Amino acid sequence: MRSFIEVKPDSDFPLQNLPYGVFKLKIGSAPVCGTAIGDYVIDLSVLEKKGYFAKTLLGNKKIFSQPSLNSFMGLGREAWKQVRVVLQTVLSDENPMFRDDKDLQKIAIIPMNDVVMCLPAEIGDYTDFYSSKEHATNVGTMFRGKENALMPNWLHIPIGYHGRSSSIVVSGTEIKRPKGQIKPANSENPIFSPSKLLDFELEMGFLIGPGNSLGKVIPIDNAYDHIFGMVLVNDWSARDIQTWEYQPLGPFLAKNFATSISPWVVTMEALEPFKLKGPEQYPEPLEYLNSKDDWAYDIKLDVYLKTQSENENIKISSSNFKYMYWNICQQLAHHTINGCNTRTGDMMASGTISGPTKDSYGSMLELTWRGENPIKLPCGSERKFIEDGDTITIKGYCEGNGYRVGFGEVSGKILPAI
Ligand code: CA
Repeated sequence: MRSFIEVKPDSDFPLQNLPYGVFKLKIGSAPVCGTAIGDYVIDLSVLEKKGYFAKTLLGNKKIFSQPSLNSFMGLGREAWKQVRVVLQTVLSDENPMFRDDKDLQKIAIIPMNDVVMCLPAEIGDYTDFYSSKEHATNVGTMFRGKENALMPNWLHIPIGYHGRSSSIVVSGTEIKRPKGQIKPANSENPIFSPSKLLDFELEMGFLIGPGNSLGKVIPIDNAYDHIFGMVLVNDWSARDIQTWEYQPLGPFLAKNFATSISPWVVTMEALEPFKLKGPEQYPEPLEYLNSKDDWAYDIKLDVYLKTQSENENIKISSSNFKYMYWNICQQLAHHTINGCNTRTGDMMASGTISGPTKDSYGSMLELTWRGENPIKLPCGSERKFIEDGDTITIKGYCEGNGYRVGFGEVSGKILPAI
């Protein structure tokens, strides 16, 4: 399967991927939807005007001329599949329709360097789970000791909390260090200060396609059809603010100052070849969380730190989405089992994805074990947590046979507190 557009072997965006995103031209233009191939963006609003999708469920509707993917995501799996077939056909080197239409290529194929990526969707609600057993065990061990690492509910419930969508930002957005209430260990009372223990959380999120109405559940065996695709997520976290505020209701200001996501949404169709069996679940989950299918995915995830002085990406963690204990279908089934409605564009994030080894932990908190073992950097400096001027980049990809289906990256630089 080859495109007439050049795709390098290590590109995240071959014909097998075709993720969706929203972009505008650097020289200025209204945001519209596109797909990525090699080092290029295909302007889907142009193909749409040309009638490329007229025979699909999209008909002649202007679905891709909009500044978000929500309309497309709301159409459901049959429409997504049809559009994917059209794109794989017209972008292939065997089909002359687009390949030989030089005039269309001039306006529809844009070098990635010439665009600015926007948030791919209007995200209405954002939920963050806590579904990596390794992460929950690490954090539990630090705060409650090895014996009580996992809370008694953890193996029965995909634990989560409601996050805040207003502060979800696209990759590349700079993040101001948050200030807040912090209680120093040696003090009776809290102080007000910039966070000193700023952290990243390596996560992935999925976006809801068609939602469910209030009072209706999404049974686990239907959950997949409500999931459009996935993005990389960095759930920035201020550990010192979190420690003081989180009891008894959970995370609040330690989390809601920023959540960064990658701009390209990789569809579940593109991820299909990388499905595998997830971790053994014991005790067996309640019936409503039991699915017939396997819903883990082999997605390699790397985290890089770039400091201002070294100015190069240093890999600080390598994890994999397949380590997740609770899978995306279990998360969605659980989220709606009480009749809670979801809407097109809602995002559900996985929780920090830590692997079994020390070099696969998904946060500074774990990598440095609360700052006890700082990360040594090549030029001699070290990091316990993230400092001003540091950039954290998460990359993710699935390795196919001779190609990769990648997510690109989610990146964010930390600026000093105001
Ligand atoms: Ca999180």
